[in-house]
Amino acid sequence: MSLSPENAHSMIDKALGLGAVASHRAYQVRSLRFHYHPLSRGDANWVLDGLTFDVDAGEILGIVGPNGSGKTSLLKLLAKVLRPHAGDMALFGRDLGTMPQVEVARTVAFVPQESPQVFSFTVMETVLMGRYPHYHGAKWSAGFGWESAEDVLIAEQAMQSTDLTHLAGRSVMDLSGGERQRCMIARALAQAPQVLLLDEPTAFLDIQHQIEICAIVRRLKEERGLTVVLVSHDLNLASQYCDRILMLKAGALFRLGTPQEVIDADVLRSVYGCDVLIDRHPESGVPRVTMPSYISMTNLKDHL
Ligand code: ADP
Repeated sequence: MSLSPENAHSMIDKALGLGAVASHRAYQVRSLRFHYHPLSRGDANWVLDGLTFDVDAGEILGIVGPNGSGKTSLLKLLAKVLRPHAGDMALFGRDLGTMPQVEVARTVAFVPQESPQVFSFTVMETVLMGRYPHYHGAKWSAGFGWESAEDVLIAEQAMQSTDLTHLAGRSVMDLSGGERQRCMIARALAQAPQVLLLDEPTAFLDIQHQIEICAIVRRLKEERGLTVVLVSHDLNLASQYCDRILMLKAGALFRLGTPQEVIDADVLRSVYGCDVLIDRHPESGVPRVTMPSYISMTNLKDHL
């Protein structure tokens, strides 16, 4: 096959193994419990307590909830970066607990909130690292030596998708927060995963790049059946771009459903403890959350 940019998408499709999805559930999570520190007897201080839910293959699931409700911990458990203390998790029908880490890495790409960059790799090299889980047994070497022309093309395609081509030769140390975030997403795309786990993917991005990243995620879902689980504190982003939303409150699953079912004034009051305005997005009709105006807050204060 010639290595033209046109067939890079089909290479990624092939690498994704599309059409060969073993289960229509990407994840099955049952009675999941997790804590960071050893609990003393009778201590009920679980970070995540008894979560049961499925993630459908090919859906975008948003995880929302107040600070400290367990969103990032849950994402790390799905990535097998953390191990649960109780409960079961299956990835495409296979027990995640016994799956070798390299197989998890071939299936799941995880983009954490902050990726510490210790070494001065270029953007191209960093994105190319996404191909590494596909080379089981290869020795890591500078340069890198193991990569094929196909890997380079897939990495270039991932950089193109995330508007990074002009920065390919720049050290990752010299990127802005938003550029670095896009670089980490490009690396995850180069990994050609079946599941993409994103922790606050738009946190450092300006509005243009927020829209671009959300559009890329939707396109990958629609064109390639990619499953995406994303953590966001932005309820409007979750409402606009996610098929379903899982809302956590203090480590427990409070609500799971479509944006229409979850983004509701009563639900948000119960979970976040505040009143917000909810109307409909003018284009899509999905719920839109607006903070109360200063005037209504002043009126509110008068009534307190
Ligand atoms: P969220 O992403 O919703 O803000 P987290 O999953 O980051 O929530 O945190 C859930 C709880 O776990 C919080 O109480 C937090 O302080 C605690 N926590 C998070 N990371 C650690 C850690 N590495 N060690 C101990 N406690 C942690």
